[in-house]
Amino acid sequence: MIDVQGMTKAFSDLVVLDGIDFRVAKGEVVLLLGPSGSGKSTLLRTLNCLETIESGTVRVCGELMGFSDDGKRTPLSEANIARQRHYTGMVFQNFNLFPMMTALDNVAAGPRHVLGTPKDKARAQAQELLTLVGLGDKSENYPSQLSGGQQQRVAIARALAMKPEVMLFDEPTSALDPEMVKEVLDVMLRLRDEGMTMVVVSHEMGFARAAADRVVFMSDGRIVEDAAPSEFFDNPRNERTKQFLSRML
Ligand code: ATP
Ligand code: MG
Repeated sequence: MIDVQGMTKAFSDLVVLDGIDFRVAKGEVVLLLGPSGSGKSTLLRTLNCLETIESGTVRVCGELMGFSDDGKRTPLSEANIARQRHYTGMVFQNFNLFPMMTALDNVAAGPRHVLGTPKDKARAQAQELLTLVGLGDKSENYPSQLSGGQQQRVAIARALAMKPEVMLFDEPTSALDPEMVKEVLDVMLRLRDEGMTMVVVSHEMGFARAAADRVVFMSDGRIVEDAAPSEFFDNPRNERTKQFLSRML
């Protein structure tokens, strides 16, 4: 589903991803961990064509992201990049909902304006997705009339509305009050149980143990450990992983 090989990413002189090899199989849930600045968000963004890369390849669903598949790495047009972005749905720390739209319109907007779904159908699907995330009765609320946890669940519904193959979560609960964290993690657990492929940047250790198939630890732009959660937390091998965990727990 995701196949990254020898990928390097720099911001001018600063190399922030340095020879990344990263694979995710269909239906797998992978947790990305690592210190601030280690490159977790940047890695997620390359999977969604939000960043260009210097070398290596990024494939999602078999397709070379950001480039044509002609072996010459010809950069794609904006239209083709927009098409490639449909493989992934992304959920950010700060929800990023459209403030002037109701919850329902936030979820229906992508299908209507990008996929060309007729208005009535897009709204009916949006209502179903809001029900799925436990917000069937909040569809006419504006983001300012929703709690943080509710806004984040609308953001998840909005990403799902584009029918992605993979969901990417970048610290989806770190802006939330503790009592709202669980309602968002519960939605993510349900997605996992339905077989959704997910890459999640999160410091929620309970979620990691309960939901992740693998924990991938990054440090200074490299993947330094990749293990099952039990192995990772109970028996970390890398020194930097040990240091990180000792500071977290
Ligand atoms: P955090 O846990 O704080 O979110 P992270 O692991 O997600 O950190 P990234 O956001 O991927 O880290 O950043 C990796 C490195 O790339 C950092 O050194 C950061 O300063 C740098 N960086 C990220 N985005 C840009 C940008 N647009 N321009 C220049 N440097 C950037
Ligand atoms: Mg980040």
